[in-house]
Amino acid sequence: MRLVLFGPPGAGKGTQASLLVKREGLTQISTGEILRRAIREGTEVGCEARQYMDAGKLVPGKIVRSLAENAIAAVGYDQFILDGYPRTIEQAEWLTEFLERHDAPLTAVISLEVPDEHIVDRLSRRRVNGETGQTYHLDFNPPPDNVDPSHIVQRSDDQPDAIRKRLSVYRAETMPVRQYFEVHGELCKVDGTGELEEVYQRIRRSISRAKAATDTPT
Ligand code: AMP
Repeated sequence: MRLVLFGPPGAGKGTQASLLVKREGLTQISTGEILRRAIREGTEVGCEARQYMDAGKLVPGKIVRSLAENAIAAVGYDQFILDGYPRTIEQAEWLTEFLERHDAPLTAVISLEVPDEHIVDRLSRRRVNGETGQTYHLDFNPPPDNVDPSHIVQRSDDQPDAIRKRLSVYRAETMPVRQYFEVHGELCKVDGTGELEEVYQRIRRSISRAKAATDTPT
């Protein structure tokens, strides 16, 4: 199974991807998380990416492309879930072409649909474990008691100015990707509002439908 989780910042992509990892045995490939790790480790890529990320801008596509393609190759082109890639039409074209070359077409692109008013609230109440990358929401998915509170931090790009910038980048550059996959026939729209588990079950159902559709001879 090869999935893309798509949606605005704060739609719950990271949270739902980690449930799919736990329950379906998929590997999560999050370009944002790979970049944050590179920053923590002080690599050259991390240093270059940091200025863009802190400002809420997209990191240059070529950097992200090779990170994503290497990660997909490392899992053998299967059983993965992409979270945060592709984010531009150019990246969507790169991904389609890369997967075609490896005879590994996407099973589905799950688009988490969440109204704007939910997003700012979710992002400003979001916290992350700086050691593991696990994300939490202070009200709906708080960090468990056994996690050291000193590891729970707010992402630097979850500050109000960066949130506004990320949302405008999303509208201008990433929304067209949704239409790209709609035209290509892989898009599955899923209502991203409500309890974690409810959203997860909706995702499960749309994956089953997508699999049934690809298994059916035409
Ligand atoms: P995320 O964790 O997915 O919200 O990503 C955090 C930040 O990493 C984004 O705001 C971008 O600066 C950068 N980033 C992650 N994925 C990509 C991508 N596919 N293309 C460009 N920049 C990205």
